[in-house]
Formats: sequence, C-alpha cells, structure tokens
Amino acid sequence: QITPADRMRELPAQFFANLVRKANEQTALGHDVINLGQGNPDQPTPAHIVRKLQEEAANPLYHKYPPFSGFAFLKEAIAKRYKEDYGVTLDPEKEVAILFGGKTGLVEISQCLLNPGDVCLVPDPGYPDYWSGVALAGARMVFMPLRSSNAFLPDYSELSPQDLDAAKLMFINYPNNPTAACAPSSFYEETIRFAEQNGIVVASDFAYGALGFEEKPISFLQHDGAKEVGVEFYTLSKTYNMAGWRVGFALGNPDIIRVINLMQDHYYVSLFGGIQAAAAEALTASQDCVAELQALYRGRRDALFSALQEIGWEATPSQGSFFAWLPVPKGHTSSSFADLLLQEAKVVAAPGIGFGAHGEGYVRMGLLTSEERLREAVQRIGRLNLF
Ligand code: PLP
Repeated sequence: QITPADRMRELPAQFFANLVRKANEQTALGHDVINLGQGNPDQPTPAHIVRKLQEEAANPLYHKYPPFSGFAFLKEAIAKRYKEDYGVTLDPEKEVAILFGGKTGLVEISQCLLNPGDVCLVPDPGYPDYWSGVALAGARMVFMPLRSSNAFLPDYSELSPQDLDAAKLMFINYPNNPTAACAPSSFYEETIRFAEQNGIVVASDFAYGALGFEEKPISFLQHDGAKEVGVEFYTLSKTYNMAGWRVGFALGNPDIIRVINLMQDHYYVSLFGGIQAAAAEALTASQDCVAELQALYRGRRDALFSALQEIGWEATPSQGSFFAWLPVPKGHTSSSFADLLLQEAKVVAAPGIGFGAHGEGYVRMGLLTSEERLREAVQRIGRLNLF
C-alpha cells in the first residue's frame, strides 16, 4: 500500500463530489433533475474567441514551449482591460502573472507566502479552494464570518490580537461566492487600512468581477494603497464563458507577482500559445458579449427571485456573481434541506455547510440554466408547502 505524504492528509475532501453522485443517482432512475448545485457556466464561449484559437492553433510559433511566464501580448491585453474597465494602471511585465485559471493562483499564493504556523484569514462561508493552499502550506486558517446582518462583509474587530499577530495573508471575494453579495468602496478602503496596520497581504478574488446586477462591481486595485498590500485574482472563466480554457491572472504587488511567477516556473511552462492568443482576443475585442451575458444573468436572477416570492420564500436578491444564497426553512439543516429538495422536488442545491460553518442555514443555487427551468425548479419546491 502506498502512503501519501503527511501534507496530503490535510487536504479537505471534495464536499461537492457527494452532491454530484446523489444527483446522478436520481437521473439514472429516470427523474428530470434540475441541477442548480454547481458553478459551471452553461453558455458557450463567444464564437470570435473560438475562431481565434482555431486560426492560431496552426501557428508554428505556438507549437514550441511558450515563454515561462507567458506571452507579453496577453499581459498587455489584461493590463489594457483593467485600465479601460477600472482605471487601474498595471505594468504588464512586473504586475501581471498568467495563471492556469484563477484556482491555481488562489492555491499557490498560500504556498508562496505562508510558513507553517502562520495564520490565513478566510471568509466563512467561502470558496473552498482557499482552504487547500493553506493546508498545503501547513498554515492555520482563521475564519471570518460573513453574516447577512453585516451585508456578508467580514467584521475585522471580531479577530483576536493573537490571531492578528500571526496573520500573514487574507482572502476577500466580491462579488461573493456563495452569498452573491457585492462590496462597497468603503469596505476595500477599510481592508487596505487593516492590512497595512497588521502587516497582512490581501488576496482579492475577483472571479465574478464582470457580474454585478445592480452596479458595476468595484475592483480592489481601484483603491489607493491596494498594490502596496496585495494582489487581485481575475479569470476569464465567468466573464467570457471560458471555464474550460483555464486562463486566469494575478495582478498587483510586484513582489508577490515575482514569487507567484517563480512558483509557476517550477510547476508549468505557461498555457498553450493558441489559448493565450484567444484569451487576448477576448480581452481586446468588442465587449458586447460581456454585456449580453450580464443581461442574461440579470434576467435569470429576476425570474428566480420573483418565483421565490410567489411561493413565499423570503431571500435577499443576489447583487452579483451567478448564484443565489437562500435561507433554509426552520427545522432543517442545509444538508437535510438539500436532500429533501433532491428527493421530493428533483432539484439540486448546494448545502451551505459545504462553504464553511457559517454557511449553515443556507443553500446555494446557480443561475446556470434557463429562466424557464429556474421557474420550474421553484414551482416544484412550492408544491412541498414548506414556506
Ligand atoms: N474564485 C471563485 C470564488 C470561484 O467561484 C471560482 C470558480 O468557480 C474561481 C475563483 C476559480 O475560477 P477559475 O479557476 O476557473 O479561474
């Protein structure tokens, strides 16, 4: 028998694998399951981006090893997009790292910056991939509760002096997965002050940066002092329906970008050049496809929340991301309620406990199917007379 390294024991089990298995069982039994449990964009990548890859796949330049940290044109393209969208100036060579999807950077940054015993501040509920890097670094997580009473923003005054002393890194994520909350500028300003005072690096996960329903989401990097204390992670997965292409970026503090690039140089030799060319096309061509996607998700959000209202399920409408964060009825845990929805309504929702202890009491639904299917899901739940 093979014994894995000790550090592998620290990796959390994939909570959502179980959910997928249960949903598949119901489908195999012949039921029409509406799966709102996962976060996989349902739309195809816009045609002009796919076309660019098809053209560039034949370019012999891209058949060789790409440059270690990726092609300059892609770094310039993301810098240009940030300038246009957020008014942020980035040095493409020193302040941009190309990643295999945002996920690799979110795991790597903990390994880049944390020593065993250091503390990482992590939102709870939050995206579970933050936990993996902290575990691999042998560091310790301190959870920052996100409560509806505080608009799902962390309250830094709750942290103990001991934890603050040991804290070296923190994650923030707005528009937020799973709570669908957005953050105001005042929150980013407070976070930068807090990070400066306590010597903590900020990792801002801006995966849903293009998806705000009420207002355009604000980037961490738009604020004075941001680049001194941290980096932002951006990804093409959601903005351009490119989740399968695995293109992401770390942007900001040049010292952090240097270590991330060094780490990456040892793991990978950058993405296929054709993908980098198509990614640059996504960032520099007309952004009409992004506006269309925003309108599509907004329509779905409105359809879902008006259907919820009709059955008496009270919930705060999503402000951003492509999720809805819904309180479970009294007498249920998030898991028992998700089980009930699957068994009785053939609807899959992700139990909040999978995102952390403060996710208990909620389920997450994705806006990743048609308005019609979303309404149908809620109507089925309505027939259970739980609200
Ligand atoms: N951050 C959050 C909050 C996410 O929900 C996701 C994907 O689901 C990611 C980061 C990573 O996306 P990717 O690795 O596709 O860039």
